Amino acid sequence: MPHNKQIIADKITTLKKAAGSHSPSIFTLIERIPELTIDIDACFLSNPYATNLFMQYMDRELLSTKKLRNVLEFYPSQNGVIADILSKSISIDKEYIFIGNGAVEVIQSVLHNFVEGKLVVNIPTFSSYYEFINDKTQVVFYKTSKDNNYAINRESYIDFIKAQKPQSVIIINPNNPDGSYIPYKDLHIIIQSLPEVENIIIDESFLHFAYENKNYDFISYSSLFKEFSNVILIKSMSKDFGIAGIRAGYGVMAKQKVAKLLKNAYLWNSNGLSEYFFRLYARDDFKQEYEYIRKIYIKQTQEFFSMLTQIPCIKVYPSKANFALIEILNGSKNTDFVMTMLLEYGIYTRTCSDKIGLNGEFVRLASRTKEENEKVIQSLQDIFGNLK
Ligand SMILES: *Cc1c(COP(=O)(O)O)cnc(C)c1O
Repeated sequence: MPHNKQIIADKITTLKKAAGSHSPSIFTLIERIPELTIDIDACFLSNPYATNLFMQYMDRELLSTKKLRNVLEFYPSQNGVIADILSKSISIDKEYIFIGNGAVEVIQSVLHNFVEGKLVVNIPTFSSYYEFINDKTQVVFYKTSKDNNYAINRESYIDFIKAQKPQSVIIINPNNPDGSYIPYKDLHIIIQSLPEVENIIIDESFLHFAYENKNYDFISYSSLFKEFSNVILIKSMSKDFGIAGIRAGYGVMAKQKVAKLLKNAYLWNSNGLSEYFFRLYARDDFKQEYEYIRKIYIKQTQEFFSMLTQIPCIKVYPSKANFALIEILNGSKNTDFVMTMLLEYGIYTRTCSDKIGLNGEFVRLASRTKEENEKVIQSLQDIFGNLK
C-alpha cells in the first residue's frame, strides 16, 4: 500500500476501534479524515429512496411553509400521544405502544426493566441485545450454523429453548448481520411452542424488506402480538424508512409494561421530526407512495444480490433484508478488502470481524440505489474477476 494510503488506513482502524461494536459513521470518517473520499456508503443499512420520499414531504410541508420553526421551537408530543398516532398504522391500541428514541432505547428499556435471569440471544446478532443487559441477566448464546447459512433451524431452536428454560429470548427477523429470515408460519410455530418463556422479544426492524410472496408483501407481526401474550415487538424505522438521524422506533408490549416504563421516565423522549414522521406514517398518501418505492427497492436489492452471487471467490448468504453477508473465499482478509473498497473505489463497507458467532472473512454489504449497486458490482469484478 502506498504511504499516504497506509496513513489513511491506520486512521480508519483507530476510528473503528473507538466505535466499539458499531461502525464509525460516514460523517465521522469524513470529518476526521478529510483526505478520504467516500462516494457510496454500503455500510449503513437504509433504503435511500425512502429518505428521498421523507425529504420531499419535509420540503413541501415543513421547509417551504416555515413550519419547521414550530417543530424546533416547541416540545414534541408526549410518548402516549405519539403512540396514539402510531396506533392506527399498526392496528394496535395505544396502551400497548411505547415510543422510543430509536429502537435502541426500546431495547435498552426492555432489557433493563423486564429481563432478568436467562436470556437466549442468537448469534451472530445485533450487539445491543447482549451489551445492554442489566446485572441480573445471564446471556446464553444460541449459535446458528454456517451449514444452514446462519438461518435458525426451527426444531433445533425449540429444543434448545426447552432445554435451557430461559426467562426471555430474542429473535431478530430478518436477522442482522446475515439477513436470514424465518418465514411467518415457522415463526408462528416457534412462538406457539414456547408458552413457558416469559418474554419472546421479536425485533422486526427489517421486516418491511422481508417479502413473503411474488408481490413483495410482508406479513405484519401485530397479529402475533395479539395472539400471544408473551410477545414483545421492537421496531426501528431507521433502516426501512431511511431516517436513522431522527431516531424513530417503537415497542409493542403488555400494557402494564408500557405503563411501568412511562410511570417515571420517557415523557418527552421523542423529537419533533420523529413525531412528524409518525404522523406521515399514519397518512394514506404517504403510505401509498412508500409502498411503491419499498417494492422497487426490494426488487433492485434482490437483483443486486443475484449479481453478487455471480462474482467469483465470494459466497453470498441468502438474505431477505437490504444487505447481504459475504464471505471472501480466495484467502484475502476482510480488513484488506474493506480498505481497498474504501481507498480505491470510495465505497464504505463493513467487516464482521467483531460479530461473535461468525468465523471467517465476512463482510456486510448494504444495497443502495440501483446506480450505486452497479458501481459496487463493478468494483467487485475489478477485485475478484468477471462474473461467472
Ligand atoms: C439498527 C438496528 C436497531 C436500532 O435501530 P435505531 O432505531 O436506529 O435505534 C435495532 N435492531 C436492529 C436489529 C438493528 O439493526
